[in-house]
Amino acid sequence: MVVKDAELPYLRRCVELAAEALEAGDEPFGSVLVGADGTVLAEDHNRVASGDRTRHPEFELARWSAAHLTPEERAAATVYTSGEHCPMCAAAHAWVGLGRIVYVASSEQLGGWLAELGVPAPPVRPLAVPEVAPGVPVAGPVPELTEEIRALHRRFHQGRA
Ligand SMILES: [Zn+2]
Repeated sequence: MVVKDAELPYLRRCVELAAEALEAGDEPFGSVLVGADGTVLAEDHNRVASGDRTRHPEFELARWSAAHLTPEERAAATVYTSGEHCPMCAAAHAWVGLGRIVYVASSEQLGGWLAELGVPAPPVRPLAVPEVAPGVPVAGPVPELTEEIRALHRRFHQGRA
């Protein structure tokens, strides 16, 4: 599924949110929930530095949407995100019935970058979204922005080394 030029501003906002997370000492991930009419409904960035490693933005947006949107609104909404949903977030996205996912960098790309940086493998297998949630339409990666995301991850992990 193709990413339209009109969607790039949402993805740029995800990159900004990822940079905000990095500045706050957290891993650089950011996500934006957009309604069917193009309105930004909610946004968040990673908050795992507190010690709760489940505080991913896509998980927060799934739970926000369950509390604030009707099933029809959720199905028509799109989640834009700096990195492809992990299996936990893909499952939450599917369980609450959200619509399309558009990501800048794939889990496969991220895994490659982190391996190059010597970061230990995560405790959860980095399955692609369709393997976890086969009914969810997915688009990405977005080459125009992937290098920016890669640079944020490099800064995060090299800064800690
Ligand atoms: Zn996640």
